[in-house]
Amino acid sequence: AIELNNMPLPSPWRADFPAIAALQRQGQTYLDNAATTQKPQALIDALNHYYVNGAANVHRAQHLPGANATQAFESSRSKIAHWLNADESAQIVFTHGATSALNLLAYGLEHECVAGDEIVISALEHHANLLPWQQLAHRCDLKLIILPLDTNGLIDLVAAAVLIGPRTRLLAVSQLSNVLGAWQPLPALLSMAKSHGALTVVDGAQGVVHGRHDVQALGCDFYVFSSHKLYGPEGLGVLYGRNEALARLHHWQFGGEMVLTADYHTARFRPAPLGFEAGTPPIASVIGLGATLDYLASLDHMAVVAHEAALHQLLLDGLNRREGIRVLGAPQLALVSFVVEGVHNADLAHLLTEQGIAVRAGHHCAMPLLKSLGLPGAIRVSLALYNDSDDLERFFSALDQALELLR
Ligand code: PLP
Repeated sequence: AIELNNMPLPSPWRADFPAIAALQRQGQTYLDNAATTQKPQALIDALNHYYVNGAANVHRAQHLPGANATQAFESSRSKIAHWLNADESAQIVFTHGATSALNLLAYGLEHECVAGDEIVISALEHHANLLPWQQLAHRCDLKLIILPLDTNGLIDLVAAAVLIGPRTRLLAVSQLSNVLGAWQPLPALLSMAKSHGALTVVDGAQGVVHGRHDVQALGCDFYVFSSHKLYGPEGLGVLYGRNEALARLHHWQFGGEMVLTADYHTARFRPAPLGFEAGTPPIASVIGLGATLDYLASLDHMAVVAHEAALHQLLLDGLNRREGIRVLGAPQLALVSFVVEGVHNADLAHLLTEQGIAVRAGHHCAMPLLKSLGLPGAIRVSLALYNDSDDLERFFSALDQALELLR
């Protein structure tokens, strides 16, 4: 057994997530929460309630099931607006995930770009916040500028001050890296971009899970996240936009419910949010995310933050104490990525998997970052509020056994 500073860290919320016990019965310790999370009973109950009591399409039907579904759907939109401290629920657009929200932006803003303009991202971006901009740059002959990182894995502000300039049309950066686990210096970066009149996009896919929920204080034009990483259902993403920023978007997907009027040759489109939600949205998932946020709002937020911080410290200490382990960057919370000298991450991942430890190995959808670190991949352990010190104890014991075999 490892030393846990003699302090067990039980999670008071573990029993709210039935899958954790189910996974444990299957011999699995789930530590891949940055990829996706397990779901609270409150969400499962909400999905069950919706499907058992009558599904209906939203914003279309006059009948009672349709009115009920629309009411629940729009009430979720308000809860999400409240969760993010947006001005109003009309600023919340539903997409199919963070990835589709970022693609929406890259298409919706294409008309604003002129050949030679610059789009600025950073060296640590997930492919979801790299490839849509890279492809936009190819389509419109733009320059994609990559902000370098400092030794702690933070976007280098000195370099950013040089690279963000009058040709910057848009800045798109992650709030919390899915590989390095560090909050990025967004206030400074956003104000640099704004001082040059550029639009700002924050990829909150990881950040939104860990307690920073004020888009107005952040001051970005757009903020995106995926429901499934925030203990919510799959197939649903959120795009928040300031009113002025949303008004600049061109429509990019066309179909039902996003038009005001249509004839065979022309159409007029709705503004946000419905104008950007062509076709039937993931209704149950939207209602489910509302229920998930109700559940999360009922928790003692400071206790959650303290629990996650204590677990993270335990994880970091345990890794640092072991010889030959190199932690990537200077992770602050939620996750730690590491490599082991002389050991291929795939071999280690294989042995951990065999012992029922569910962690992520590989490039973490950030191939250019891993390449720039000279690594083929890394192991990532990522935490959620339902994890406890027993999970970490099982992880470290499996790690020690694996390393004994491999070294
Ligand atoms: N951005 C970051 C930082 C992520 O970690 C992820 C997913 O891992 C995404 C974007 C994309 O999210 P999704 O696959 O849910 O669209």
